[in-house]
Amino acid sequence: MVKIKTGLGLDSHRFNEDPSVEKSLILGGMEFESELSLKGNSDADVVLHAITDAISSITGNTIIGAKADELCQKGITDSREYLKLALSDLGDATISHVAIALECQQPKIDPLVEPMRTSIAELLGIAFTDVGITATSGEALSDVGRGLGIHCTAIVTVVA
Ligand SMILES: [Zn+2]
Repeated sequence: MVKIKTGLGLDSHRFNEDPSVEKSLILGGMEFESELSLKGNSDADVVLHAITDAISSITGNTIIGAKADELCQKGITDSREYLKLALSDLGDATISHVAIALECQQPKIDPLVEPMRTSIAELLGIAFTDVGITATSGEALSDVGRGLGIHCTAIVTVVA
């Protein structure tokens, strides 16, 4: 019998307020040209962290947290490495779809959707059409909605 499982992951990062911090804005494994960057010990890729957590909620093996911190301390700050670890726990299960919802005032997500879909599809070994990304401004209702950072929700569906 085919078994379908869904994993849910959330993550948020604040923007760096110190203009002297030279850090790139990395979302979904893509580096975007921007004045903005996110705070974090790693590359602070809020999208890949949410996807990694969604996969962990299927496998039961949490990567974002102690394991990622440990890797950070060894100098591994590329979130694609954390995602790879979570993917290696999936075994025979195959990812059939990934849904991503972003909340932020800035940057404008629309122009980033296509490159992010391409990057995420490649990282997960799935089709571009199996990655969906939507975004909302948050209407100034929360700190994220007031422009202090980016929040990401990810749902990963797998067939086992
Ligand atoms: Zn994170």
